[in-house]
Amino acid sequence: CEKCKQSFKVEDITKDKIIKCPQCGTELKDAYPVNLMFQTKIGIGKARDAFLRPETAQGIFTDFHLLYRFAREKLPFGVVQIGKGYRNEVSPRQGIIRLREFSMAEAEVFFDPKDKTHKYFESVKDKELFLFDNIKEMKLSLEKAVNTKVINNQALAYYMYLTQEFLMTAGVDPKKFRFRKHGDDELAHYATECWDAELFSERFGWIECVGIADRSAYDLNAHIQSSGTDMYALRKFEESKTVEIKKIVPNMGVMGPLFKGKAGKIKTILENMEVKDTKKISVNIDGETIEVPNNCYDIVQKKEKITGEKYVPHVIEPSFGIDRILYCVLEHNYSEGKKKGEEYRVLKFNSIIAPIKVGVLPLISDNKLVKIANEI
Ligand code: AMP
Repeated sequence: CEKCKQSFKVEDITKDKIIKCPQCGTELKDAYPVNLMFQTKIGIGKARDAFLRPETAQGIFTDFHLLYRFAREKLPFGVVQIGKGYRNEVSPRQGIIRLREFSMAEAEVFFDPKDKTHKYFESVKDKELFLFDNIKEMKLSLEKAVNTKVINNQALAYYMYLTQEFLMTAGVDPKKFRFRKHGDDELAHYATECWDAELFSERFGWIECVGIADRSAYDLNAHIQSSGTDMYALRKFEESKTVEIKKIVPNMGVMGPLFKGKAGKIKTILENMEVKDTKKISVNIDGETIEVPNNCYDIVQKKEKITGEKYVPHVIEPSFGIDRILYCVLEHNYSEGKKKGEEYRVLKFNSIIAPIKVGVLPLISDNKLVKIANEI
């Protein structure tokens, strides 16, 4: 409930009410959870549970600590990936639009949350974006959209612009394109702001083809919490400082036998924890809250020279659905008409994506002309 902030199970709400199918009037019964991920097993015998990835992004997050080193520990930097995603869609009945196995191209661009400006923003700030806020459509320059907070930050606006450019270059009809902002009631749990690049299809209406989200620090925080891996970046100071700090020094002699397989993860979390309430320390591992008794660690106060402060980077994610874009590009570039009373069908691609760039075709079958056509 938005107002009182209480959570309820769907079955508690529907239990005493009769809810009918709006289409055929049949009474709808028991609510049950549905997992949109495909479950499988890895290995033989005592196999491990596994899930097919519903998006390509998470591999980039789990490798963040390596990618950060590879980027010379400087933000912003981005990582792109293209591959298959799998979702156990409830109603995959719209041809290529709702598939259970589809191709995604995703970019994760990591930013310091204190600086979501973009170094190329200046060069594109006067370009216009086609925006739709669920009430009205508008054309706004990137600069105006960011200054009026229609789009929260430069980085998000910049990747929206690149997406618009990409789609136009691929041959999308500008009259059948818009960025639609997610309302508060549809925003995914991981996003602070999300825009969908929607393309209009004669057959299916407006379709989300690219999602561009500011995922803030959601994913990295979730991985830090459940794996205990250090996924922080360092905001370097101009000059190093000497500060008095409180640190937790884990005592593995006590923690090992007490927490067994989880001890290593707990140790990393404790070492990276900011010490606030020293009386009661708890950590979250794989969704489980674990109380850590105070004989498991010592708190030491010491002076330390620090060169910067740690933070969890934010991420802007453009996520492209390749199959949907391909479908819309085909539809937007196909037309049927009549020429001199004859049916005339045309499929006309932008040369940049056309598999065949130029055709020289002699119209009459004459070997002399074939020779000239070949020469041309
Ligand atoms: P999402 O993570 O849900 O924003 O999905 C990213 C992109 O993948 C979307 O913008 C769609 O273009 C595409 N997509 C999502 N689900 C499907 C599906 N079932 N079939 C084909 N494409 C999909």
